[in-house]
Amino acid sequence: MALEIRLVPLLSDNYGYLLHDAGTGETAIVDPSEAAPVLAALDAEGWKLSHILNTHHHPDHIGGNAELKAATGARIAAPKADLHRIPDVDVPLAEGDRYRVGGSEARIFAVPGHTSGHIAFWFEADQALFSGDTLFSLGCGRLFEGTPEEMWRSLGKLRALPDATRVYCGHEYTQSNARFALTIEPGNAALEARAAEIAALRAAGKPTIPTNLGVEKATNPFLRADVPAVQAALGLADRPAIETFAAIRRGKDNF
Ligand SMILES: [Zn+2]
Repeated sequence: MALEIRLVPLLSDNYGYLLHDAGTGETAIVDPSEAAPVLAALDAEGWKLSHILNTHHHPDHIGGNAELKAATGARIAAPKADLHRIPDVDVPLAEGDRYRVGGSEARIFAVPGHTSGHIAFWFEADQALFSGDTLFSLGCGRLFEGTPEEMWRSLGKLRALPDATRVYCGHEYTQSNARFALTIEPGNAALEARAAEIAALRAAGKPTIPTNLGVEKATNPFLRADVPAVQAALGLADRPAIETFAAIRRGKDNF
């Protein structure tokens, strides 16, 4: 049975996600910035929290851990590499590990770049990827603790997943990402269509998440640094893709 997934808006532009397995009653929260809205969402659904999943150590992804654990007894699964900076972890996770929420199993990817310990959770059978602040819709995370090379390699792992994968990321940054993406590829019809869809969703007060990995492959400039047209647009034709990736990341930092 597939996981039921509920988006929980947190802080100003963070998203947490409740994952519920109806068969076993197990429920997880991904990246709880704060506890109160998560507890309210659990209450509204009649679900009991059993797992807290963290993609990385930033406070807006773990801020609700302690209060949620105290209130529910849920166990915390988080990056093994962040044990020194995420308190009270029960299950340390690293590349290649598997983690079960009820009847669904996630494969863990190490995706350094935004932070050195960042992980992503891929629930293959559910076609759902929780990418934290590594892959955003039309964007990627800032390189606080990593190099462009690391981030490009990390995004490559995620890009290799099936097109039908739904991508659940850590923030609602999509509209500003779309404005930047259009400066890189103004003639990309798929990007123009996605930008129009995003504008309509935001005008209606709706989230742009989940996005779809097939759409991201066709529109997200950070997944397209090895597309010849993108490289040429940046004056980097016939250069290694990493140079285009680094140039796009620098451009976004200054956008
Ligand atoms: Zn972060």
